[in-house]
Amino acid sequence: MLKWDGHTHTQFCYHGSDAPIEQYVERAIALGFQRYSVTEHPSLPIGWVNDRKLFDELGMPEHELEQYFQYVMNIKKKYEKEIEIVIGLELDYLHGRQDYTDQLVAKWGHVLEEVIYSVHYLPAADGNYCVDFTSDDLKQNLLAYYGSMEKLVDVYFDHIELTIQQAGKLPMNARIGHINLIRKFQKQLPPLNEAQFQARLERLLPLLQTNGVGVDVNVAGFRVTSCEQEYVPEWFIKKCVQLDLPVVYGSDAHKPEQVGLFWDWYEQIVSSK
Ligand SMILES: [Zn+2]
Ligand SMILES: [Zn+2]
Repeated sequence: MLKWDGHTHTQFCYHGSDAPIEQYVERAIALGFQRYSVTEHPSLPIGWVNDRKLFDELGMPEHELEQYFQYVMNIKKKYEKEIEIVIGLELDYLHGRQDYTDQLVAKWGHVLEEVIYSVHYLPAADGNYCVDFTSDDLKQNLLAYYGSMEKLVDVYFDHIELTIQQAGKLPMNARIGHINLIRKFQKQLPPLNEAQFQARLERLLPLLQTNGVGVDVNVAGFRVTSCEQEYVPEWFIKKCVQLDLPVVYGSDAHKPEQVGLFWDWYEQIVSSK
């Protein structure tokens, strides 16, 4: 099996680490990874979230995209004999602002080799809110607006479905990011309806197939104490493997030491029948 970390961040992420990318890549090489995708959060439309301080942490300013691509291109060249580096982005599904993402892809598509497409935001009363910022923020702004966890989870998965359709239109490989991100604060939220998750996840399988979209088997949930669970359940990964859907391990490293964490867990699931 190709040892591939398909979801990682860099110093161009302002809620992550300012460590140089060499530290991430050298750890990947030391762990025996053969391929490494760099999938930074791009910029967002100005005012996408109301909180200005938070906005500045969510994505790089638009004018830095050029530097980012140059940075990853240089690293790709520098390490080409040791590891295959893939130039990517972690795009956001921006409800009502698809035009922003479309122009970004049109502008950078010539260098962009791969995309993780994620749902980090949902609309509420007076703007967009993160599903993964803090549990209090989620409760005050999303749960209060939608009225129940069940309704919130349904809206979240509706957005995941729209994201898969957008991802399917891209000219490069795309994977749906951490499909269960809405579980990030599960230990601090009202109980979740597991049957609802099962049903909504099952519905994604044919959609992924028809749109030719893969799955980011994101392990970041394991390291979050409010979650302590992978973001893609084992049964779902196995179903994808049976259906020949592309599944790729993703550390979602925001620090060098997170590269490759829980690889053994992933390898054991995809290699056992
Ligand atoms: Zn991030
Ligand atoms: Zn993400």
